[in-house]
Amino acid sequence: MKITGISVYQVTLPLSHPYSLSGGRLHYTELDSTFVALETDLSITGWGEGCPWGSTYLPAFASGIRAGLEELAPVVLGANPSRPDVVNRAMDEALPGHPYVKSAIDIACYDIAGKALGLPVGDLLGGLTADPVLVQSSIPTGTPEEMVESMERARAAGYKVHSAKIGSGVDDDIERVRKLGELTQPGESMTFDVNRAWLPDQAIRVMKATADVDAYYEEPCETYEESLHVRRRTTQPLILDESIKTYSDVLRAVRDGACEAIGLKLNRVGGLTKARRIRDLCVEAGVRLNIEETGGSALADTAAVHLAQATPMRSRRATWLCHEMISVDPVIGGARNGGGVTRVADAPGLGVGLDHEFLGDPVAVYQ
Ligand code: MG
Repeated sequence: MKITGISVYQVTLPLSHPYSLSGGRLHYTELDSTFVALETDLSITGWGEGCPWGSTYLPAFASGIRAGLEELAPVVLGANPSRPDVVNRAMDEALPGHPYVKSAIDIACYDIAGKALGLPVGDLLGGLTADPVLVQSSIPTGTPEEMVESMERARAAGYKVHSAKIGSGVDDDIERVRKLGELTQPGESMTFDVNRAWLPDQAIRVMKATADVDAYYEEPCETYEESLHVRRRTTQPLILDESIKTYSDVLRAVRDGACEAIGLKLNRVGGLTKARRIRDLCVEAGVRLNIEETGGSALADTAAVHLAQATPMRSRRATWLCHEMISVDPVIGGARNGGGVTRVADAPGLGVGLDHEFLGDPVAVYQ
């Protein structure tokens, strides 16, 4: 089987409500996403999506994906999509680094391989388990009262795992942690995600002042070294997210005892092939996983849920579904939230369809 064509679509995904994180430092109203369709000589089409959230979030940006795909097209055309590791090595030789550019191609290869074999993508990633995937809420930075309301709405919708975005300052953050911590009930799990906003002294002060609140803290500081400094002076379980970009980053975190869990985001690490390797390492090393996408529609989310559902339940925390925050829906089917849990369809490939009218014409075609 050979890839014979690549069609690239630019898709604007408006957020249903403006979203602030990192203590309000980062603010977004819409996301710019890239959908990729790979055609093959067997007339099987595979779909993938790459969305690095907003361009100020990571060293990754939406139009960079489209520029990078132009660089990669010559090595992707003619490649066998049922051999994603081989495709990835070819992409890494043609364009070192830039994992976020490659993610959509890699996901589309898995979609094709699954369709060709009659298997869901999760069965190519170790095998779908019977256990549904917990969905985690995403509570934007706001006043403590606004965040309490947001958490209560999430709870009413069935979420048991909550991720609250903080990071605007020591006193404000202590108040937020106290208010949301008091709300947390048995059977729920709470994360305070700082998205790199604190300096180490701020992190240490907030975490020491709230050490009696049962919660995880996520990505407290801008750099890995700063977060490690905090980690060695505090007691709460820590999640690393933005600082995990490669397999080597996870090896280092395991060696340093730097965290109890990681956020494994497909677009940031380069797709399912690389995420699967990191997943396997974390399962063996006892590091728990939030397996999810960096951003995007139900297409991107569904790829992440395949990997999550193919991961042992005891190694998972929960999966955020970005598409729940988007006011348009270009995807038919896929992994959806049903009362705080989701699962993929037992269908070949990713098990999603696309609304072609919504997508419109491709912005680039390579043949
Ligand atoms: Mg995070």
